[in-house]
Amino acid sequence: MFTRCPGAISIVEPIPEDVKCPHCKMTVEMFTNETSLRCYHCGGHIVRDKKPSCFDWCEYAEKCAKELGIPLDG
Ligand SMILES: [Zn+2]
Repeated sequence: MFTRCPGAISIVEPIPEDVKCPHCKMTVEMFTNETSLRCYHCGGHIVRDKKPSCFDWCEYAEKCAKELGIPLDG
């Protein structure tokens, strides 16, 4: 039995991912819940597209986010 939506885990428990900085081509760590970051190698701004999550389509997204204490953008 799940105590919460399994689709929300990547949002509730972010994990670091390697992202390549478009400015200096170095690899930086970005958490799965982050969409922008300042590169700690060159100071450049790294932006990536938000990954689609269950919140983007789930009819319970609002209720779910509220229970989890996650602010929904948009
Ligand atoms: Zn950089």
